[in-house]
Amino acid sequence: MSSTSQTVASNFIRTIIDADLASGKHRSIVTRFPPEPNGYLHVGHAKSICLNFGLAKDYQGKCNLRFDDTNPEKESEEYAQSIQDDVHWLGFQWNGEVRWASDYFEQLYQYAVELIKQGKAYVDDLTPEQMREYRGTLTLAGKNSPYRERSVEENFNLFARMRTGEFADGSRVLRAKIDMASGNINLRDPAIYRIRRAHHMRTGDAWCIYPMYDYTHCISDALEGITHSLCTLEFEDHRPLYDWVLDNITIPCHPRQYEFSRLELHYTITSKRKLLQLVNERRVSGWDDPRMPTISGMRRRGYTPKGIREFARLIGISKSNNTVDMGVLESAIREDLETKAARVMAVINPLKVLITNFVAGQTESREAGFHPQHPEFGARIVPFDQEIWIEADDFSEAPPAGWQRLTVGGEVRLRYSYVMRCDEVIKDAAGNAVELRCSIDAETLGKNPVGRKVKGVIHWLSCAHALPAEIRLYDRLFTVPEPDADKEIDFCTYLNPDSLTTAQGWVETCVKGAAPETRYQFERLGYFCTDRRDHRPGKLVFNRTVTLKDSWAKEQG
Ligand code: ATP
Ligand code: MG
Repeated sequence: MSSTSQTVASNFIRTIIDADLASGKHRSIVTRFPPEPNGYLHVGHAKSICLNFGLAKDYQGKCNLRFDDTNPEKESEEYAQSIQDDVHWLGFQWNGEVRWASDYFEQLYQYAVELIKQGKAYVDDLTPEQMREYRGTLTLAGKNSPYRERSVEENFNLFARMRTGEFADGSRVLRAKIDMASGNINLRDPAIYRIRRAHHMRTGDAWCIYPMYDYTHCISDALEGITHSLCTLEFEDHRPLYDWVLDNITIPCHPRQYEFSRLELHYTITSKRKLLQLVNERRVSGWDDPRMPTISGMRRRGYTPKGIREFARLIGISKSNNTVDMGVLESAIREDLETKAARVMAVINPLKVLITNFVAGQTESREAGFHPQHPEFGARIVPFDQEIWIEADDFSEAPPAGWQRLTVGGEVRLRYSYVMRCDEVIKDAAGNAVELRCSIDAETLGKNPVGRKVKGVIHWLSCAHALPAEIRLYDRLFTVPEPDADKEIDFCTYLNPDSLTTAQGWVETCVKGAAPETRYQFERLGYFCTDRRDHRPGKLVFNRTVTLKDSWAKEQG
């Protein structure tokens, strides 16, 4: 699996599509992405988006965006809007207008009437508890409801009255009449309509009965002429119901459903319900908190659409377990940023250095390019003064063996500038280094020092010119690879208390006018992005997108 190859990796779905096009079964393909507008999309949805929209793009077909809006209480305009923004941001455009399952409510109703007229659906008065009891178990057949043999006329009449609001919520359901003894529980007379007096964001109070997901989904697919209906593996057992509905109504199109494995990412969760819990319990700042695995969170953190699409390509599509290490996602992002982000210097944990042999008040400026391989990115002036900031971690009084950074009596190269020696360390009462007294070798600007080798290069900033910045450092949201593996333990137990650290650091003057969502490499520190929400000209706020190397993998040995 070469990470640089851009060739399209094949998979079993492509094989099916190739065969369908070759045999003439389809002349072109139509896929769809069918989210429920009940939360923000996460990285698992990104996989599904890249698959559905990606196939349409590669095969010059079409991909619809259809909201499965059949659960009015949990759905909202805010969610629907965020989903559209996320799909666009990832680089995709749906075919025509956004579609809504609710656009088909009248047709769905008429198809239910058709099932009733054929004796293939009935109104059931069992209570939910009774219905559960009658359903049976995996090993035990279910039994027929006493209402199962109602006449067509009675069912037709009761269903019409369900619609007009004569009956209480939950008092009756319309069920498909299939087989209470089926080995597949989904075929044991599944409910296809329920009574629910809930205000719907699009249809308002026009309906008090709502169609169930399984019934709605296949008909919506057929009405839109979907050729390949792609969903995750948990729907495999629902496929016989998908086919049963379409086989038993008069509809000219019968899409085929294919299932692929869900994406699970280590050290995070991919369940909308649990992500909502994090938001509601204020464990994170919102759906777009940069630690969230949501598309909007990844965006705010500085991940790129191309990097996410490349990640989806790398993990591929199959039917086997798809648990992926975060390192795979991070390296796809890093690879994209490597050639895109301008490189500047920043100091996150500053330590002051006074250059004793440099004149106070004098500034010496050098030009430095924004990217070693991309001269077209341009250059800026890097000023040097008597006082500079360096990274506290780049100095050690008692360094370990092989230390190439600064120590008393040692030398380092200041990036784009002189070789500097540390002569003295000033400490506070507690013994912490608060300032270094250093001297530069004036003969080393753009030249190697004479008679000795200086290996270490460190970044730095002129105190007089640096701008203060808030720098937000992110770590894994959870401390264990599978926080929701154990049903008995609340996944919040495993939240990483150090997932966010806020530092007050310094950045180069040249980033002053950076718009929100501008990406940089801070040399030696990682990739950073100005925050979409909080960054503004008077208050610079950077999010660390990803470190330069996979420090996590190293720590893990
Ligand atoms: P969740 O369980 O997080 O609520 P969902 O499946 O209920 O997700 P939908 O809005 O119904 O959310 O999902 C829209 C599409 O995205 C579906 O086709 C679904 O199969 C797909 N999808 C959801 N989660 C994943 C995932 N982790 N990996 C791949 N595809 C996913
Ligand atoms: Mg779903």
